[in-house]
Parts: sequence; C-alpha cells; structure tokens
Amino acid sequence: MSEASPPAHEVLNQSPPFVDVDLFALDVPLAEAVAANGGANAAQELSEFGRHWGSVAMAERGRIANENTPKLRAFDSRGNRRDEVEFHPAYHELMARSTHAGLHNSTWSADGRPAGAPAEVVRAAKFYMAAGVETGHLCPITMTRASVAALSAQPDLLASTMPVIGNRAYDPTFAPWTTKRGMTLGMGMTEKQGGTDVRSNMTRATRDGDAYRITGHKWFMSAPMCDAFLVLAQAERGLSCFFMPRFRPDGTVNAIQFQRLKDKLGNRSNASSEVEFFGAYGRRVGEEGKGIRTIIQMVQLTRQDCAIASVGLMRSGLAHALHHARYRSVFQKHLADQPLMRSVLSDMALHVEASIALVMRLCRAFDRAAVEPDEAAYMRLLTPAIKYWTCKSAPGFLYEAMECLGGNGYVEEGILARHYRESPVNAIWEGSGNVMCLDVLRALSTEAGTAMGTLQQLAREATGLPGVASATAFIEKAFRRPDAEGAARLAVEKLALLAAVAALNAVAPRHAELFAITRLVGNHGAMYGAVDLAHEDVGRLLDRALPA
Ligand SMILES: Cc1cc2nc3c(=O)[nH]c(=O)nc-3n(C[C@H](O)[C@H](O)[C@H](O)COP(=O)(O)OP(=O)(O)OC[C@H]3O[C@@H](n4cnc5c(N)ncnc54)[C@H](O)[C@@H]3O)c2cc1C
Repeated sequence: MSEASPPAHEVLNQSPPFVDVDLFALDVPLAEAVAANGGANAAQELSEFGRHWGSVAMAERGRIANENTPKLRAFDSRGNRRDEVEFHPAYHELMARSTHAGLHNSTWSADGRPAGAPAEVVRAAKFYMAAGVETGHLCPITMTRASVAALSAQPDLLASTMPVIGNRAYDPTFAPWTTKRGMTLGMGMTEKQGGTDVRSNMTRATRDGDAYRITGHKWFMSAPMCDAFLVLAQAERGLSCFFMPRFRPDGTVNAIQFQRLKDKLGNRSNASSEVEFFGAYGRRVGEEGKGIRTIIQMVQLTRQDCAIASVGLMRSGLAHALHHARYRSVFQKHLADQPLMRSVLSDMALHVEASIALVMRLCRAFDRAAVEPDEAAYMRLLTPAIKYWTCKSAPGFLYEAMECLGGNGYVEEGILARHYRESPVNAIWEGSGNVMCLDVLRALSTEAGTAMGTLQQLAREATGLPGVASATAFIEKAFRRPDAEGAARLAVEKLALLAAVAALNAVAPRHAELFAITRLVGNHGAMYGAVDLAHEDVGRLLDRALPA
C-alpha cells in the first residue's frame, strides 16, 4: 500500500469560479437597458432567471453538454433506419429550462400573434443571460420561436401547432408532434450548391392531394431532433416553403434520412445535420412560389437572436475577465488595479454597454413594430446592421476577454475557450456579414424614404454628441453612391455605431458620449484598451459592469 504523497504546493492567487451569482443583478447596463425599453416591471422575474442561470448547476450542464456531443444513430443493430440523434441528459436539462422560461414562445400570444410590449425586451434579457451560460441549445429554441412568424402565412397550420408550441413544456420523445406536450421546429434552406442564394435550391416538391412529396437534400439542417422543419423546395410555381414533420399524419416515420452530423468548430452541444428527403411528406406554408417571402419572416427573428446571443457571449466574457482580474495579483497588485488592465477592461465594458443598449432598443422596435410605423422602419433597417456589427465584433472581443485570464482563458475547463469557438457562427448563419450589408442596401433602395427617416431619427436621438453629425453625413453619402456596395461594410458599421450611440444615450448619456468619442470621432485603435479614458470614467464603467 502506497502512502498518499503530501501536497507539493498550495493553490494560491487563483480566482474562485464565477458561479452562484445573479446574472441580472450583477449587470447594471442590462437592467438599465431593459428598463429604458419598457421592461422595468420584469426586474424580479429577470433576477429569478439570473439566479437560476447563474447557478453552478447550470454552468455544469453547459460544460457537460458540450463535452458529450450529440451522436447520430442512423441505423439500429439490425440495419433498420433510425435517424435519431442522442443527446446527453445535460442538453435536455438546458432545453427544459429554456422552454420552461418561455424562450421559445413568450413573444407570441396563444393564437400566434405578437404578444406585445415588453415581451420581446423581457425575453431578450433572458436569452442574453442564457447565451452567456450555454449557447448551443438555443439554436432549436430560437428556430421554434421564429417559426411562428412563417407559420402565420398558413393560418390553419398555425392554429393547429400553436397549442403545442404555446406550452412551456419540453418533450424530447420521438413521437408525432400532434401527440406531444411541447414541440420544437427547425429550418432547412441551405443546399450544397447554395446557402445565401436559396433560389438555387434543387429540392423538389410535387403535389400529392392536399400535401406534397419532397425529394432532395439539405447541406446544413440544424437541430435534427426537432419535431418539424420549415423547408424550402421547388414546386410547380417556384420556390415554396413547407412544413415537414418527423412523422406523417398516419403516424409512420417521415422519409427524412440524416446522412451525418457536422463536426463543428463550436456550437458543439447542438447537432447540425446533412439530410436527404425521399418523397418526404410536407404541407405548404404560404403561397406556392412565395417561399422566400414566407421564410424571411422567420429569418428576421433568428437574425435578431443572433445579435442578442452575441452580446450575451461578450457580456459573459467581460464578467469572467473582470471577476478574474479582481482576484489575480501580478507584481503585488490586483490586475483590476493595474492601469493598463483597467484601460482594457473599461473599454470592453463600454463596448458591451453600447451593445446591450443597442439590442434592447432593437427589441423594443420588435415589440412595437405592429403598431408604430417608425418602429417598423427602425426594425427593418437596423436588424441586419445590428446583426452585422454585434456578431462580427464578438470573436475579437472574446479573444481579448480570454487573454485577460492569461493561460486559464485558453483551456477548455473555463468557459471562455468555448465562447470563443462558439462566437463566429452567429455571423455566418442566418445571413453572413456581406449578406447583412446587402440587406441594409436593399432596405435603402426599396424603402428609401423610411430608411432615411430612421437615419435622421438616430441623428436626433444622439444630437450634440461628438462625431454624430459627421457620421450621419457620411452614412447618407455612402448609401447614395451608385457604387454603394463596395463601401457598404464601412457604412453599415458606422450605421450600427450611430444607432448604438443613440440607444446608449437613452440609458447612460455620459457613456454614450464616451462611446461616440472613441468610436465615431475616429480615435479608437484596433485593440481594446487603445483609448484614453479619464480615471473616473474607467472606474464607473467597471463598477457598472460588475458591482464589486
Ligand atoms: C453550424 C451551422 C449550422 C447551420 N444550420 C443551418 C440550418 O439549420 N438551416 C439552414 O438552412 N442552414 C444552416 N446553416 C447554413 C448557413 O445558413 C449557411 O452556411 C450560410 O447561409 C451561408 O451559406 P453558404 O455556406 O452556402 O455560403 P455562401 O452563400 O457561398 O457564402 C459564402 C460567403 O460569400 C458571401 N456572399 C454571399 N453572397 C454575396 C454577394 N452577393 N456579395 C458579396 N459577398 C457575398 C457571404 O457573406 C459568405 O461570407 C448552418 C451553418 C452552420 C455553420
């Protein structure tokens, strides 16, 4: 019997885990942005959610669900097709918690109409907190929520699915959706020959009585254990949208065969499949030939969620970095007290403050678009611009947050490596960066008057702040150029920055001024911390980001 070795050393100067916290109470910019956009009364509900998702148990579920990735069981032991994906129980727990909180349905009323203000803002605050803990499982959650917008084009289908979508129950059993307590929906558009250009879809749909038989493939179709998918396919009158359930109405398994699961950089708790349809049963959603118009209603909402999730990831990175810096000493001084580290952290805090103010402002527009034309115009022009800017800034931000933790940031036991690998996907799916810029240009060409009205509104909301007048003039000029496409990234980035200044001005005017000085006036270096903020501004930004 060998004797246990005495410890070789004492563990010193390491930060405790950032868990068992109230993710809402610790996030002053979030609470203020929620209140400024109509959600003040939800503070208690959000704090309960924040405590639950900030618990050590939820953090563990996130880690375990990503370490134990989904497995495709294409066949059973006798060679019969199964086409099921197995997930670790931790993934199912995450799904159940998000569903229980209504992340998949709370923006809809029981009949599938928008629930009205402040449902979008309140749900977005929860979605943002959940994204900071585990983002992969939010893919089917967001698609289910968004699918309702497309199903609205087919009122009978909406009426029959809403009683199931509208439940706050997660039911992972592999059974017909009509028999279940809750259901999830996915989306199949991308084929091998084209993801952006879905008009190139080759999957075909032929009429079969009231329904259709769908034959073809999808190169990316996430969350294959969803109960149904909204799928694009070519019908007689052109590209159309179809509701394709996992089971046919007679209860037999639909002809949906998963070829394999993608081996992804991040987003590993979530399954994304390659799939073939062999005359699969489908029901049309909306008019034949109007598939893009139908599914774009859904995509608008998934884009919104990409932006919210990206900001949630950045917030989590900031909180972990700041927490660590308050415990870790280097050269006899806490990192959080080293002037250079304070510059980095406060500049990151400013980025997150502006980002959360911006996405909450966007969600307010979603809340009010049905009744306020100005808000509908804001939503139309700024959804792609905000998706572009928030999603594309997340990987660089998370890399910097990771570096604040030094070597600990780079290893898989911490959450930052996972966040970093997760972050690029939000820019790629649901319309990649260039596609978002082209969509802003499309809004400007098809609805020029209202789009320019929104620009003027932003300028008014940020009036007097440094750089606002010149940024507005620049954006206007850039978008009027006949060759606007070539300079669209610059103009769209400036548009998002201007909108962020305007949104932050309604929440924290001094910080809107700092953001305008550092981002619009043109003095911001390429790296976080390459700014020269006053001592008291730095202190206030850090205290708000994570009250000590
Ligand atoms: C993890 C993951 C999960 C996914 N899940 C799903 C899913 O569930 N359902 C689904 O349908 N799809 C899904 N996708 C696919 C995703 O939506 C597409 O990858 C995306 O839309 C881009 O399409 P693509 O890959 O065909 O690239 P392309 O369309 O070939 O685009 C390549 C690049 O060209 C740029 N580009 C495109 N057009 C232009 C232009 N006119 N001018 C300048 N630049 C342009 C794009 O911005 C992009 O950067 C998923 C992807 C990933 C990574």
